[in-house]
Amino acid sequence: MGGLGASLASVTIPSALRAQSTMTTAPQNPIALQDPQTKYPAPPFKGQTQPWPGLASKMDPVPDHGEKSYRGSGRLAGRKALITGGDSGMGRAAAIAYAREGADVAINYFPTEEPDARQVIALIQAEGRIALALPGDLRDEAFCQKLVEDAVKGLGGLDIVVSNAGRQQAHESLLDISTEQFDWTMKTNIYAPFWIIKAALPHLKPGSVIIGTTSEQATDPSADLYDYAQTKAATTNYVRSLAKQLAPKGIRVNGVAPGPIWTALQVSGGASQDKLKKFGGQTPLGRPGQPVELASIYVQLAAEDASYATGQIYGSAGGAGMP
Ligand code: NAD
Ligand code: MG
Repeated sequence: MGGLGASLASVTIPSALRAQSTMTTAPQNPIALQDPQTKYPAPPFKGQTQPWPGLASKMDPVPDHGEKSYRGSGRLAGRKALITGGDSGMGRAAAIAYAREGADVAINYFPTEEPDARQVIALIQAEGRIALALPGDLRDEAFCQKLVEDAVKGLGGLDIVVSNAGRQQAHESLLDISTEQFDWTMKTNIYAPFWIIKAALPHLKPGSVIIGTTSEQATDPSADLYDYAQTKAATTNYVRSLAKQLAPKGIRVNGVAPGPIWTALQVSGGASQDKLKKFGGQTPLGRPGQPVELASIYVQLAAEDASYATGQIYGSAGGAGMP
């Protein structure tokens, strides 16, 4: 050991490497300490509703997806990512972060979300990355297959799949949920990830990753989210099952479990007006999360240095919730 230490000590570090190591260890500007309780808006919020699926840009206050704040450091350089629901909320935060980390990004969204999607495409392009806009309805198996094909073609391959799109409608009673509503939730939250991952698998090489957005609802369901909450239990479950199935192929599968996050889903039927006005107030931090506060989790799970993480659910819920 002594001999090895001595020989290492005598190695001179080439100047190019020295420069690199300075860049990666020393932030250019110190990052100010901020109290997480007061960093972002807290209730009471204004009541507001939008027709489904809603636009983040029309919310009051407008959510923070990292447009101005997310700083990349090359963690996903050269990666090719497909993100469903990439126009707003967690998907948008992941799309912005991925582009700033050096990835090319394809986003899927519902066609009426074009105004939000355009902003995301412009932000990805501003990083000099390929940005693909692939609108369409995920409840259609043929579309899901085409979505993956178009992403692979447009990006020149695929190594990160973020299955993030979701449907959430609050209903006080089971009696208020029609078969059509129930089916809509199941198709979006359970069938679409199945179809997309099935179509993507033949393209994923060892080192690729699949990330699902699940929820604290998977383990602690709300009374008024009967159908939605069970789809999130299914998401957590498929993450754990697929992680075992795909480990021998070198593909990692993980999930992100948010708590109450200020997104369009909540103002377009996801929460009652009463809940919305107090949104996030019940968490120990006393406020809802902003999508940007989860961006680094999507980055971390996709990054090469997370190579031992598979079948994991990473939570972010302001002190409440169980991933
Ligand atoms: P969001 O409304 O910003 O994103 C959801 C996206 O799903 C939409 O933008 C839309 O593009 C997409 N989508 C829904 N149905 C679709 C369809 N049929 N075809 C194509 N796209 C469709 O809201 P969000 O909160 O960022 O949601 C992202 C994920 O986070 C969802 O899976 C949601 O269940 C999950 N989640 C949200 C919260 C929260 O409090 N906001 C908490 C836990 C989990
Ligand atoms: Mg949206």
